[in-house]
Amino acid sequence: MRRTEYMQSQRFAIYARISRDRIGAGLGVERQQEDCTALVTQLGGTVVAAYSDNDISAYSGKHRPGYEALLRSIEAGEVDAVVVWHQDRLLRRTIDLENYIDICQPGNVATHTVKAGHFDLATPSGRAVAKTLAAWAAYEVETSTDRVKAAKLQAAKAGKSSGGNRAYGWNQDGMTLNEAEAPVVKEIVRRFIGGESWNKIALDLNARSIRTAKGNMWSAINVSNVAQLKRHYGIREHNGEEYEAAWNPLLGRDVYEDLQLAVKRGRAIYGKRSYSRTHLLTGFIFCGLCGNRMTIINAQQRDGSYSPAFNCRKKDHRGQTVGCGKVKRKKDPVESLVIECLIYRLDTPDLGAMLASDNSDESLKKLIREQESQNLRLQEILNLFSTGELTFDEYRTAKATAQARLDALVHELDQKLSRNTIGLIPAGQSVQKAWDAADIEWRRDLVDALIEGVYIYPKQKGDGKARYKQWIFNPDRVEIRWKA
Ligand SMILES: [Zn+2]
Repeated sequence: MRRTEYMQSQRFAIYARISRDRIGAGLGVERQQEDCTALVTQLGGTVVAAYSDNDISAYSGKHRPGYEALLRSIEAGEVDAVVVWHQDRLLRRTIDLENYIDICQPGNVATHTVKAGHFDLATPSGRAVAKTLAAWAAYEVETSTDRVKAAKLQAAKAGKSSGGNRAYGWNQDGMTLNEAEAPVVKEIVRRFIGGESWNKIALDLNARSIRTAKGNMWSAINVSNVAQLKRHYGIREHNGEEYEAAWNPLLGRDVYEDLQLAVKRGRAIYGKRSYSRTHLLTGFIFCGLCGNRMTIINAQQRDGSYSPAFNCRKKDHRGQTVGCGKVKRKKDPVESLVIECLIYRLDTPDLGAMLASDNSDESLKKLIREQESQNLRLQEILNLFSTGELTFDEYRTAKATAQARLDALVHELDQKLSRNTIGLIPAGQSVQKAWDAADIEWRRDLVDALIEGVYIYPKQKGDGKARYKQWIFNPDRVEIRWKA
């Protein structure tokens, strides 16, 4: 029966597969199937089934539904022979081959390839050839991963573009500037260094119908990411290492340093407190009795009206005890007092001394650079530990030392950046004038630059007779703790 069929026409199954590997690269499933069908015709057979898997590497051992179906039809005796474009399409691991041979042997199913000829898996020599080819295929996959890595590193060292998604401001080649977008990158960077927030810039770009590289609206994160793309500054990054780019930079390294400074400054000022900014002193007021950070409530006055007040809450919204609940003070006189003290302080010679301290951008940049290299040092210590070059004890000691140095740097940087904010007062303008003209953000920056915290103490006997401006209020119950 079987023999008759064989004489009439051998039944062939075709197997095609697309993967990203080199052999047969660019050959789609269709093209592979055409070549295979031509071979079947040449051999005088009939194609009874065609199986394919798409874009899956045979080497990875992932599930291949087409391949599994092929094996099942061989086992079921539905095919007499298999044709593939290259045996790589079928098997890449020797273990696959062993399995394949086991399945083909009972029915004496032959395997033909368009590229590598015919394997008679029924004979020892045929199997040996197939095994050798499979072994070489595996070897090529293993070394090609190394080769790809090496090629990428080489490209990075040469400063060549890494390809991939188009970066905003650049053409797809990664080497030439996009004439419409490059000026936008410059604008974003200039405006952020000039003190505008990422969010404000994003809103403005959207309002002007300017879109991202992918054609979307801007968010603060998009804007920040685009500004900080190292490629603008002629830096090619690869695996955390930096190389000199082969393309002409859009902006200079000095601009990059200015931007880094502005980013850190933003972090130092805005990063620490994320409270609502509707009130000048939110987040700065503490209970003098228990140290709890006070919140603002609407407190009823003697005349029945309501006005905002700082309050020490006993419990937070989750019902957990956070404070003593014993101190409350009207907001307006506290605010007025703090502003008065702040402006007085800025007008004293103390400030002159503060401003005279080494506060230049240059010294800040030096600190930032040192902080970055200390960060790298920490990373290196971790690497040395993970590769076994440091024992755990050595790692712990080295890490503690590096971390302490980093913490000290961050503290120093924070202080300098805070003081730097005072430089925000325009030259020739009185502090009071600058204050009156400024918006809430600027005022809060100033408060943050100078004040550690404002502590409010419980009222004492006789405070009911104390007056401060139009209020019944004793300024002695307020303590301002200055930063510098
Ligand atoms: Zn309290």
